[in-house]
Amino acid sequence: MRDTYRREINYLRVSVTDKCNLRCIYCLPPEGVKSIPHDEILRDEEFEAIVRAAALVGIRKIRLTGGEPLVRRGVEDLVRRFANIPGIDDITLTTNGILLPDHAAALKEAGVKRVNISLDTLKDDRYREVTRGGSLASAWKGIQAALDAGLHPVKLNTVVVRDFNDDEVESMARLTKKRPLHIRFIELMPIGTCNKWTEGRFVPAGEILDRINRRVGRLHPAKMAEGDGPAKYYRFEGALGTVGFITSMSEHFCENCNRLRLTSSGGLRPCLYDAREIDLKTPLRRGAGDREIADLIMEAVDLKPDRHHMDEGWTDKKRVMSQIGG
Ligand code: SAM
Repeated sequence: MRDTYRREINYLRVSVTDKCNLRCIYCLPPEGVKSIPHDEILRDEEFEAIVRAAALVGIRKIRLTGGEPLVRRGVEDLVRRFANIPGIDDITLTTNGILLPDHAAALKEAGVKRVNISLDTLKDDRYREVTRGGSLASAWKGIQAALDAGLHPVKLNTVVVRDFNDDEVESMARLTKKRPLHIRFIELMPIGTCNKWTEGRFVPAGEILDRINRRVGRLHPAKMAEGDGPAKYYRFEGALGTVGFITSMSEHFCENCNRLRLTSSGGLRPCLYDAREIDLKTPLRRGAGDREIADLIMEAVDLKPDRHHMDEGWTDKKRVMSQIGG
């Protein structure tokens, strides 16, 4: 299906829970956020019905996210339901990796093709600080579990924050030389809890690329075999992995946007940065069929703005990132 700007929309990001087992500083306020009541969260069969309707109008790719998708009980069953829907041919997952050792093999078996794992630092103390108590060793076990389960390519998402981890971009990039890991440096977005900690700490991707080119070695433009999204990829000569950049702020890629976002409580958002949501839960719970839901999905597609307006600040007082699904 095409939106009003002639973009092909074929990708749905599904936040399967608002709960998370970490509390990253730039994502959640220190006091946390009030959990959405259990009965407001979509049940497996409701997620399945929405994805089935979405497939009718051209959605092909699903990414499970959250919150932390692996804290949802029975997440593999949900993946299996999605994998059985005709038309859905790509299922991926974004996770902090902590629970992957217990889930990687089962997720692969259920139909997840590959994973993105968030990893902002290679230092224990910094990991504990940014995640408010998380263990870097556990995240690494998760990364290893993803590699062992064959969830390739394993991509690592690193949000770069000035004077927190910008001095690690060289060592993170170096990881890709000997290991089949694909680091993606993500520009900090002014979303949700844009709190004091992040103020003035934006680092443009161009600066990171420059720094790596000067201090580690020449990065050459590269193509990712699978899962080419908005990142621009590079590779060191002979490296097993790649180095990518997601330039949401310095050079937005909205003209190629192909996605919609479903919140765990059934709100369909046309854009991460657009507070308008089409409520799918209410019609579903009063018995709407696939065609009616598909029509509502088309309405969300029609609402897609030409581009995000993050530079104007975050105005959605109702939601933080963990509730929308990053
Ligand atoms: N819990 C999972 C995880 O850690 O990957 C999935 C949800 S998390 C919200 C998804 C991604 O959003 C993470 O890679 C996180 O770093 C990123 N993220 C959260 N807030 C962000 C912000 N303000 N700017 C850029 N990325 C952000």
